Amino acid sequence: MASSPKPLTETADAPRPTGANSPIPPITRSQDPFRWEGVDVHPYKETGDHFRSISRQTLFPGAYDLPVELRYFEIQDGGHSTLERHQHAHLVMVVQGHGQVLLRDAVAEFGPQDVVHIGPMTWHQFRANRGETVGFLCVVNQDRDRPQRPTDDDLTMLRTSPAVEEFIRA
Ligand code: MN
Repeated sequence: MASSPKPLTETADAPRPTGANSPIPPITRSQDPFRWEGVDVHPYKETGDHFRSISRQTLFPGAYDLPVELRYFEIQDGGHSTLERHQHAHLVMVVQGHGQVLLRDAVAEFGPQDVVHIGPMTWHQFRANRGETVGFLCVVNQDRDRPQRPTDDDLTMLRTSPAVEEFIRA
């Protein structure tokens, strides 16, 4: 039996468990694909013009001995994430759609169930450029540095590869 959507709250991310004796109900999927009950769909980032058509849902905010967040990102056809790098790493599993990702100095294809690691200070950008909506889960440390965007010198270096030059959206 389908449940009706829960009302949205001010902090409509999945709740943070506070201890071993404070069980929380499972986060259950919504009737809509890749949506979850009680979890808001947020903008990817609060501000900026360096990304396009991408949303973020936080499914796990970090708790217990898991100081990580589990997020679901969705990129509409034609959209992309920010071209960036940072000290913290990402662990990504694609769950819907095909696209391409920049990893350091190479462009790779991806599709459902592919796993992508992004290590420290590795330039990366995801694009939904295969005519489909792309969705992926991303694990990231709760405690992390702010992403860096490329300087003009960084862009010059990245663009020494024709494939990268054609791919990146900065
Ligand atoms: Mn990143």
